[in-house]
Amino acid sequence: MHHQQRLNDEIAQVKLNILTMLSKSAYPAHHHLIQILDNKANNEWLDCAAEKLGPEYAILISRMTKLEAAVSQIEIGQYGYCCDCEEKISAKLLEQDPATQRCIKCAP
Ligand SMILES: [Zn+2]
Repeated sequence: MHHQQRLNDEIAQVKLNILTMLSKSAYPAHHHLIQILDNKANNEWLDCAAEKLGPEYAILISRMTKLEAAVSQIEIGQYGYCCDCEEKISAKLLEQDPATQRCIKCAP
């Protein structure tokens, strides 16, 4: 499924953005964090980053959370269904954003 590929590609991209921001950070703790994150498996990576990083990372973390959620839904066979009404999300919406969680009626 090509959505899975797009999700995985974007996860890798967001991860890279976070690591790049950390590597440019003025806080020594952030450089240490890069090493910590380096040793984390994918599922722990996000929890660890979300816990340790400040509000300047909130957008990246929230995007990554959405991407990871979509990947988990693929794994359990629930991908492409609205998380509110459980209707199928249109192919067009998923094409625009493969991490879409809600159908057109429930979208905020
Ligand atoms: Zn819905």
